[in-house]
Amino acid sequence: MAKTALITGSTSGIGLATAKAFAAKGYNIVFNGLEENGAEIAASVAKEYNVDYIFSPANMLKPEEIKQLATEALAKFGSIEVLMNNAGIQFVSPIEDFPDDKWDAIIAINLTAAFHLTKAILPSMKANKFGRIINISSAHGLIASPFKSAYVAAKHGIIGLTKVTALEGGEFGITCNAICPGYVHTPIVDKQIPDQMKAHNMTKEEVINKVFLAEHAIKDFISVETIAESILFLADSAAAATITGIALPLDAGWTAH
Ligand code: NAD
Repeated sequence: MAKTALITGSTSGIGLATAKAFAAKGYNIVFNGLEENGAEIAASVAKEYNVDYIFSPANMLKPEEIKQLATEALAKFGSIEVLMNNAGIQFVSPIEDFPDDKWDAIIAINLTAAFHLTKAILPSMKANKFGRIINISSAHGLIASPFKSAYVAAKHGIIGLTKVTALEGGEFGITCNAICPGYVHTPIVDKQIPDQMKAHNMTKEEVINKVFLAEHAIKDFISVETIAESILFLADSAAAATITGIALPLDAGWTAH
């Protein structure tokens, strides 16, 4: 029987590329995201790879919608083998100007949603004695940059959640690992360019080269396909069965500094 992967924020960027990689392996996919054309994106990926799917626009800000997403997914497929907590947003501002509501939203979407969804899915994974949970942190889960207080706090926090989930899941055949990407060229990065231009008083090219890629030892963006392949390794290979509780940097050398 086909396995099922539930990926939040899978109608864009890293989540979408990973959904395609799992679909190519024959997984059913539970798509989620707030893109207006999310339903069409999900349908077209499922058609391309001939896999079963559902799409839910559950808002990761809302615990009730997160629980409903888990209920719908389990009702449709019976089990979830892979959970990828990936949905995320960013906001860039010095701390003294950082809007309170942006702080709350970033902590809710980038951190607390992963807690709610893990809590909702874990009992069925424990019953099945199998689960692979991947939390998308960031190089900003390991180190900091100025003007990203909420994001850096949430991404450090999700590594803590990853370690606790790994410890609690171990005896039930469940692994939990975090991925820590450097800069990947997706909409979340594009949307930061105007704020970064303002915060650093730079042109777009200067932001890309002097802010985004400055700390990469390899002076390039990381591709979404690279991230997806690493997630497949952790979630779908026998070799990774005893890898758990790690925070894996995929950051072109950024955190080697
Ligand atoms: P993206 O903007 O392309 O995708 C983010 C996804 O999250 C979208 O599908 C969006 O609809 C969804 N989302 C946002 N708010 C949501 C909400 N309230 N409810 C449900 N879905 C919501 O960006 P991406 O780069 O693919 O980001 C995916 C993850 O990777 C994020 O957690 C991000 O922090 C992380 N990350 C990205 C980079 C990078 O350079 N792009 C680097 C490190 C970590």
